[in-house]
Amino acid sequence: MINSSLKQLSQHLANKQCSSVELTHTYLQRMAQLNPSINAYITIDAEKSLAQAKAADARIAAGQAGPLTGIPIAQKDIFCAQGWRTTCGSKMLETFISPYDAHVISQFDAAGAVNLGKTNMDEFAMGSSNETSYFGGVKNPWDLARVPGGSSGGSAAAVAARLCAADTGTDTGGSIRQPASLCGFTGLKPTYGLVSRYGMIAFASSLDQAGPMAKSAEDCALMLNVMAGFDERDSTSVNREKEDYTRGLPAMETTQPLKGLRIGLPKEYFAEGLNAEVAKVIETSIAEYKKLGAEMVEVSLPNNNLSIPVYYVLAPAEASSNLSRYDGVRYGHRAAEYDDLMDMYMKSRAEGFGAEVKRRILIGTYVLSAGYYDAYYLKAQQIRRLIAQDFAEAFKQCDVIMGPAAPSTAFKVGEKTSDPVAMYLEDLYTIAVNLAGLPGMSIPAGFANHAEGTPLPVGLQIIGNYFDEARMLNVAHAYQHVTDWHQHMPAGLENL
Ligand code: GLN
Repeated sequence: MINSSLKQLSQHLANKQCSSVELTHTYLQRMAQLNPSINAYITIDAEKSLAQAKAADARIAAGQAGPLTGIPIAQKDIFCAQGWRTTCGSKMLETFISPYDAHVISQFDAAGAVNLGKTNMDEFAMGSSNETSYFGGVKNPWDLARVPGGSSGGSAAAVAARLCAADTGTDTGGSIRQPASLCGFTGLKPTYGLVSRYGMIAFASSLDQAGPMAKSAEDCALMLNVMAGFDERDSTSVNREKEDYTRGLPAMETTQPLKGLRIGLPKEYFAEGLNAEVAKVIETSIAEYKKLGAEMVEVSLPNNNLSIPVYYVLAPAEASSNLSRYDGVRYGHRAAEYDDLMDMYMKSRAEGFGAEVKRRILIGTYVLSAGYYDAYYLKAQQIRRLIAQDFAEAFKQCDVIMGPAAPSTAFKVGEKTSDPVAMYLEDLYTIAVNLAGLPGMSIPAGFANHAEGTPLPVGLQIIGNYFDEARMLNVAHAYQHVTDWHQHMPAGLENL
């Protein structure tokens, strides 16, 4: 059951093979068993989940079910959910109970999905390993000595360990795709503006975007159908007609379903910095795409090497502004003792934020300060435009771009914590996509066999043009139709 697709689960519910309450119990039991060692969830509230499941069963019985009605999913703890503790992985919000729902949450509620809980994450989504969470690191289900990636590490581990049927993440610089690569599942960051950011705790508003994390492209399409759509409460939400992202997915009758598709391979993605074992897996998956009829074209993204430095000016600049709201006055942590108002601000922030968040606030405040604004912030904005132009040029020659999603497989807990730059390099292939506002996804492409220990998952990244999610999902689905990497589960977790 736990390895079933969303469609199969929905069929089980429709045929009365099981009820949503039973299904929810199954997941809650797995969570009770596995969460203490994996730490994927920050907040679990069985009573709330079961009440939703009961309501879903009534809806199914009344013949009013949608494709996700009664399906147990999880939500990254960055989404405000009414009545649920919403922490964003920070001590600052340790006891914050949200008074309202994020758009994403209300969309899933309206669809009748069951919320199993709030998943662990790097503090304020700043990180690539989930080690900056105030609630402790998340372990990679493929090897508990390793990280799941970040910042959506809890959602990543929850999908990989089948502690939910699917879940949500957010991606500011790679936080859906890099953990998808490290944990071996399918994750999609949509075009900027496709999914409303209303009620999603802000990190870097011009980059943040929510997306689905699931076993397969088909499951991601079903999730995206619920998440995407115009919302007037987010000024960057794009008002365009709703699409059905599952359209065209089952049409795989021919052996070359991708005939005519031009896949761009950026030469900068296959250069220095890419682990040799990861490169091998990516090359094998590209060979598979050739068999499916696609044609390969070499493209170039000449400014890709500037994407990390540009991001680490712009994202902290936006974060320093966004995080100024945590002042100990309106909500969040307030220091127990202080002398005056200024002292209260300072102590509350000093106590409430962790080291990485403080580092970002300091960098952001610095690059925005009067004397440095032109030299750093403005310059970074200009290079951001060049990075977007690189993609526009590349898409003149190809329909989608492919390459690795992360430079290496899951690394050991603690391996990169003392070296922020090594951690920042994890997003070498993902950040430019956010800077350009494009959609990107990572799909399971195989396993790297390192000399030591267990084989670890590798993700293939697919980057599309603006609002081309349906095509990307199609391209991913064609691959998943002829391979079974997306169905593999971490050893020992299958038959619990
Ligand atoms: N790893 C990047 C960072 O630390 C991206 C995080 C994200 O996408 N939320 O900022």
